[in-house]
Amino acid sequence: MRISIIGAGPAGLFLGAALARRGHAVVAVDRDGGPAADGRWDRRGVMQFHHPHGVRPQVGAALRAELPEAYDAWLAAGAEPITFTLPDGRRVSGGMRSRRETFERALRAVVVREPGFTVRQGHVDAVAIADGRARGPVVDGAVLPSDLVIDASGRSGRATRAYGPAPAPAGDTGIAYVSRQYRLHDPAAPGPMTNPLAWQADPDGYQVVVFRHEAGIFSVLLVRPAGTLRDLRHDAAFDAACRAVPGLDDWTDPDRAAPITPVLPGGRLHNRYRPQPGIDGLVLAGDAVCTTTPMFGRGLATTMMQARELLRLLDRGTPGDFGAWCDAEMRPWVDDHVRSDACTRLLWTGADVPDGPLPSSLVLAAAEADPRIGAFCGDYLAMTAGPSALAAAEPLAREVYDSGWRPAPSDGPTRDELARIIRTAVPA
Ligand SMILES: Cc1cc2nc3c(=O)[nH]c(=O)nc-3n(C[C@H](O)[C@H](O)[C@H](O)COP(=O)(O)OP(=O)(O)OC[C@H]3O[C@@H](n4cnc5c(N)ncnc54)[C@H](O)[C@@H]3O)c2cc1C
Repeated sequence: MRISIIGAGPAGLFLGAALARRGHAVVAVDRDGGPAADGRWDRRGVMQFHHPHGVRPQVGAALRAELPEAYDAWLAAGAEPITFTLPDGRRVSGGMRSRRETFERALRAVVVREPGFTVRQGHVDAVAIADGRARGPVVDGAVLPSDLVIDASGRSGRATRAYGPAPAPAGDTGIAYVSRQYRLHDPAAPGPMTNPLAWQADPDGYQVVVFRHEAGIFSVLLVRPAGTLRDLRHDAAFDAACRAVPGLDDWTDPDRAAPITPVLPGGRLHNRYRPQPGIDGLVLAGDAVCTTTPMFGRGLATTMMQARELLRLLDRGTPGDFGAWCDAEMRPWVDDHVRSDACTRLLWTGADVPDGPLPSSLVLAAAEADPRIGAFCGDYLAMTAGPSALAAAEPLAREVYDSGWRPAPSDGPTRDELARIIRTAVPA
């Protein structure tokens, strides 16, 4: 088949090379021309590119299965596999320590050499449809004739928005990111960790996470209600916040590490699920299908899970089954985020635990008070089972909250206190 892909991000690059290996003639069109001659890659249009990404095991597994050279190139670029021991003694993979940029550069460098796969620069304005069938993307005004069009244009892609049902659910979560990258001084050791993957604190009204990447690089992330703590976009205010939060002060101590980027403000975060458009020859994949707030680091995993399923169905000759698979396997993650994020925002206002079925975030938190809940959490946390895996634990969690127990906020200033601290640090 002649296959066109809108977008050469993780979904487009991975699918493009894997389909070319199956003998198809594949072109991925991206408005971004790739890394510049001097090596810089600003990646305008993918606002999260330099924000921290937790990279789950599904990503490495997909590369090893389909594009092992890309996996090797990623390791050669410094990516560090994470393994840890579960309470039952099993050694498991925790994914990869890597910046998103390091991952995508390695993937791109390998797949652009793939015979049968072309990555070209251009803007896809729309998809030409005739007789109910997609005929090809319209690239800078001209149709690129295709037997199959894959829309892998990400969370902000517009090229196929006019087709098919409107996204549902679709929502601004009212939550926003701000982050900054640091590097440990050689030979300084990393700071404290609260789990094998990250250091996390949940003071009153916001969240702080430290993600370790490759080669001593790490990101500090502050998650806040959109519209609050805006001053954090200033380097001096961010520094003041780092000094004020216990544990974070340890990670960012100038004797331990130094920033390697300015503060990176992020746009608002969305939970959105877009059903397949139901047009022959047009398939959505990656973030074009679903986006979830990134606090659980699920986007690259859902992207790779979709890509592998789409490949399997194309191999079988039944790509039309992809829509039902997405509805069954992807949409529940978005619904789960909608409920958890709404609850997080509510609790950040000082409200109490709501009545009714508890969202996953509160079920997980209750495991601290009732260890029986932990037995239900592993598959959910690893995404080896969907959110329904937590359903049996919900009544146990409800008992915990009915007993009056509440998760204690982490040490550190409240959001209002932090707002005052950072305001005094903002240059006049
Ligand atoms: C703040 C933030 C933090 C995140 N953190 C994590 C994390 O910790 N872990 C995790 O697994 N995931 C995380 N994610 C999600 C992850 O970044 C996405 O799942 C991933 O980028 C999806 O890849 P994609 O290829 O589908 O889309 P994208 O990476 O968005 O790529 C889409 C591509 O399409 C191109 N494009 C769009 N429209 C057009 C057009 N009309 N014409 C030509 N080209 C076009 C764009 O230029 C882009 O290159 C995060 C997301 C956000 C927003």
